[in-house]
Amino acid sequence: MNAHSETPAPYGPVAAPEAERWMREALALARAAQDRGEVPVGAVVVRDGTIIGRGGNAPIAANDPTAHAEIAALRSAAAALGNYRLPDCDLYVTLEPCAMCAGAIMHARVRRLVFGARDPKTGACGSVIDLFAEARLNHHTRVTGELLATECGALLSAFFAARRANA
Ligand SMILES: [Zn+2]
Repeated sequence: MNAHSETPAPYGPVAAPEAERWMREALALARAAQDRGEVPVGAVVVRDGTIIGRGGNAPIAANDPTAHAEIAALRSAAAALGNYRLPDCDLYVTLEPCAMCAGAIMHARVRRLVFGARDPKTGACGSVIDLFAEARLNHHTRVTGELLATECGALLSAFFAARRANA
């Protein structure tokens, strides 16, 4: 049997430390985005226990409304694999994906999405809308939410508080 064809078990107590490790890598990318003056969101794509794609939020610097962390991480992983689909890959992102990124994650056939903080304004994993719950759209990606949510959210809250103070 091909190991890659097996459906992974949901994250439980055993897998949680590894999931946290990947989320902390995504958090480092979020902090790097913040240092560039971008909203602090970071993402990594993991395959077979290795990061194959990294992305930080960059729409301001790139003059690109699609330059979200997830899109950058998906592009970098797809280039690394030489494949536009990422079926054995898991994506970790510090903020609940928006509708655009949820669509891209589905098109890439990502195996599992793990996100940190919820986004009550644009979250497409249940906060505003739940695109992954739409069986007509999504047959591939399983979703785990609110991993290290406090830490991921605190980074965003501090960023927006500082921005308001400087306004
Ligand atoms: Zn997005």
